[in-house]
Formats: sequence, structure tokens, C-alpha cells
Amino acid sequence: MVSRQLEARGIRDPAVLAAMRTVPRERFVPQELIAHAHDDNPLPIGSDQTISQPYIVARMLEAAELDPTARVLDVGTGSGYAAAVSAELASDVVSIERIPELADAAARRLRSLGYADITVLVGDGTLGAPEHAPFDAIIAAAAGSDIPPAWVAQLAPHGRIVLPIEAASGSQELIVATVGHDGRLVRRGLGAVLFVPLIGEAGLKRGRPGGR
Ligand code: SAM
Repeated sequence: MVSRQLEARGIRDPAVLAAMRTVPRERFVPQELIAHAHDDNPLPIGSDQTISQPYIVARMLEAAELDPTARVLDVGTGSGYAAAVSAELASDVVSIERIPELADAAARRLRSLGYADITVLVGDGTLGAPEHAPFDAIIAAAAGSDIPPAWVAQLAPHGRIVLPIEAASGSQELIVATVGHDGRLVRRGLGAVLFVPLIGEAGLKRGRPGGR
């Protein structure tokens, strides 16, 4: 998986590659899909949600530029896989999921794998996790219409926000954003993606002004 799907597509950060080698992806997929755990695509995890494609997880974490002192907010816990890979790279990981059943299962899974330093919360991740802020990186595995204001407020100086943004046309682009010296967000596009919607107060607004 790492050499064929990640290195071959340009993932270079040795720490990200090592973390992707370390976390047992087969422990994060439903029993009946274990044979496909390392396939080059997302997989269903129940509740109409997915565990993201390995390449996308690596791409997002490389863009987040985590280091061993970093505090991370992972929005959209899902199976807990991206939270576990983040924990291999960072100091503290707070992961938030809106579907209680997924959050509970992920928290149990992460505990059983020894990721005691990951805090799993149930709630609307578009509001961030103010009681755990500031974060050096905020990483979302669900597509919004724009960057939620709470994330900007909860970002540490020089922090990075990585998320998919959905345009009015329905196309999605993965972006990384930082706050520039003038306090404005500086965004860089990382390419087209396809994610489930970010559902919440500051999430995807389809069919409303400013959204699809
Ligand atoms: N990172 C996950 C993994 O490694 O398995 C995959 C996440 S899945 C693609 C996206 C997740 O985002 C879903 O579990 C969904 O319920 C969650 N989600 C969507 N909107 C959310 C919100 N506002 N707050 C928290 N979680 C949200």
C-alpha cells in the first residue's frame, strides 16, 4: 500500500510514510471487508459513512505538516483510522464525530490498539472543540462550503487547516489554509477529491445562498 499507492503518487514525508506503515488499517474496517482493507479506495464503515482512501489520508496529513509537539483536531472520526495515523505523528489528537455509534466504536477500537492519547468527542465538529484549543492543525474528512469560522479562531499561530471545499457546481477541492501575517487566510489547492458532506452549523450549505 505504502510504496504502490503513496510513494508512487508523490507522498514524500518520511514520518507520514512510517505512520501509514505502522497503523493496522485492517483493524479499522468491518470484518467482512478485511481482505480489502488496503485497497486503493474508500470503504463503507456503516451509518452511510466511509474510511477514506489511504492516499487521501496521507495527502492530508502531509499537508498538515505535523510534528511531535503538534496538537491536532481531527473532524469526522469515522472509523478512527486518520486519528490513529495523526497520533503517530503528533503529540495530542482530539477527534470529533457527529454520529454517536461511530464515535463509540472508534473510541473502543483506539483504546484497544493503545492510542490512549486520542480524545474522541461526540458533537458538531464545525464548531471545533474550544475546550481543547488551540490546535496546530485542524483536519476534516468531510466537505464543507467554506472554512468554519470557529476553526480559524481555534487555530494556533502558524497552524494549518486541511479540508475539502465543495463549490456550488458540486465539485470538491482539497485545500490547505494558513493565517497570513495580515490575519487573512491563505489557501492552497491540493487537487480534486470526493468526500461525504460536513453536516453541521457551519458545514455544507447545498441549495442555500453561498452554497449548492
Ligand atoms: N477520518 C475517518 C476515518 O479515518 O475513518 C473517515 C471520515 S468519513 C469520510 C467522514 C466522517 O465525518 C463521517 O463519519 C461523518 O459522520 C463525519 N462528520 C460529518 N460532519 C461532521 C461534523 N459536523 N462533525 C463531526 N463529524 C462529522
